[in-house]
Amino acid sequence: MRPFVLVAATALVALAGPGHAAPPSAVSRATAAAHEARTWRKAHERAILDEFARFLAIPNVASDSAGIERNADTLKAMLERRGIAVYGLREPGAPGVVIGDLPGPPGARRIAFYAHYDGQPTDTLSWNGLPWTPVLRAASGVKLPLGGNAPLDPESRIYARSAGDDKAAIIAMLVALDAMKAAKRTPAFHLELVFEGEEEAGSPHLAHSIATLPLLRPDAWIICDGPVHQSGRPLLAFGARGTTSVELTVYGPVKGLHDGHYGNWVPNPVARLAHLLAALRDEQGRPTIPGFLDEVTPPSDAERAAIAAIPAVEAALRGEFGIGGTEGGGAPLNETLLAPAINIRGVRAGNVGEKATNTIPTEARASIDFRLVPAQTPASVRAHVEEHLASLGWTVVSDPPDNGTRMAHDKIVRLEWGSGYPAARTPLDAPFSREVTQLVSALGRDPVRTPTLGGSVPMYLFRGQHATPVIILPIANHDDNQHAPNENLRLQNLWDGIETFAALFAGLEK
Ligand SMILES: [Zn+2]
Repeated sequence: MRPFVLVAATALVALAGPGHAAPPSAVSRATAAAHEARTWRKAHERAILDEFARFLAIPNVASDSAGIERNADTLKAMLERRGIAVYGLREPGAPGVVIGDLPGPPGARRIAFYAHYDGQPTDTLSWNGLPWTPVLRAASGVKLPLGGNAPLDPESRIYARSAGDDKAAIIAMLVALDAMKAAKRTPAFHLELVFEGEEEAGSPHLAHSIATLPLLRPDAWIICDGPVHQSGRPLLAFGARGTTSVELTVYGPVKGLHDGHYGNWVPNPVARLAHLLAALRDEQGRPTIPGFLDEVTPPSDAERAAIAAIPAVEAALRGEFGIGGTEGGGAPLNETLLAPAINIRGVRAGNVGEKATNTIPTEARASIDFRLVPAQTPASVRAHVEEHLASLGWTVVSDPPDNGTRMAHDKIVRLEWGSGYPAARTPLDAPFSREVTQLVSALGRDPVRTPTLGGSVPMYLFRGQHATPVIILPIANHDDNQHAPNENLRLQNLWDGIETFAALFAGLEK
């Protein structure tokens, strides 16, 4: 793999050079629609908030099938009220996928906008209020009336589970369509609104649904989930890292032994585990497993240029986290996310402090997660790790070793692999990527473009076999407490989201 080299941010200009993906007419349609959406929103803020609050008041944990059913029914009614055709997709025993379908002219490409209507389970006692009783608060925290006609401060926030993650995106899309309808505008393409009901439960049925339902195989996806950049600028993310994990157990003697009597003779599993872990990655976090990095696709020029243009957050983050240095050889955060990571999640062996005893323990355990980048797969990671350990003299087993196995081998490590999935990325210079970037940029707030999220979402499912373009476009504020108590949405983020969706619905070409 080539080392990561940054190019100057001016290279971005070159990217936008020959062959604009969105023609000027599309850009002007997008800006006009965003302007109309603003006018519409200003005249209907209270009604928008009212519909949002009623939607937020329905409990939406994926395992609560009665609550989820009510959400799906409400969502269906919200679409139908707007004259949008609705399809409900249902896998046995699973929350339904609600699809709003707005066919474009014959032959138009199909672009799906995805959001999810389920939310994370809540720790109700930790909330300042109740998760499904929406509350409006001023930036100062003072509670404001949710009803009435008083003008709304855009810095106010609405508090409820899923206010940011991810019902905000749903309401913003629907209001964008209201504004377009009022301005007699229709999308030039075939628009599909795809609302999933079990994203927070890990989307267990999504792979099967996509494989079997042509409705879920559009020409391109926009995934509307997560928060915008910490700087407050819009964010476009073009990929996500994959993941896999392993639990390791290294074995010592079958019973704890006095380390004075046996210390230089009986192998110590804690020391052996430390050597094993040190053989996986160096002090900069760079994997040292032979072959591991060979299948990593080097970042493209467009990806390097985008990374170079991301606002620096490193100094602030170091202060926030209290760390005197970083891994990655001094590279900025987003550049390090282009590489795979070997994360040691935990180590357990023996005892420390008051509980420490002079004993050689019987075993030592570690838990590791891997973050994958193209073109690694969970299977290739597993193969490289197991080959590497074998080359270091380890006997790899998958079950607890019996006495015969223990006697036959000196160094035994048990590996229990978790499931996982590969990374996915849409090229930043693909036509669809450039088109979306131009339309979002035309709204006057330059989007931060990140080639990949550091975290893992199963974006590869949306990419599918045909490398369908997939772009992640969040609208929620970065401090929306998603997945946590007191989840909220800043109203200005909702207002901005409405304009962004109007711009894309109006500006994306046939
Ligand atoms: Zn989400």
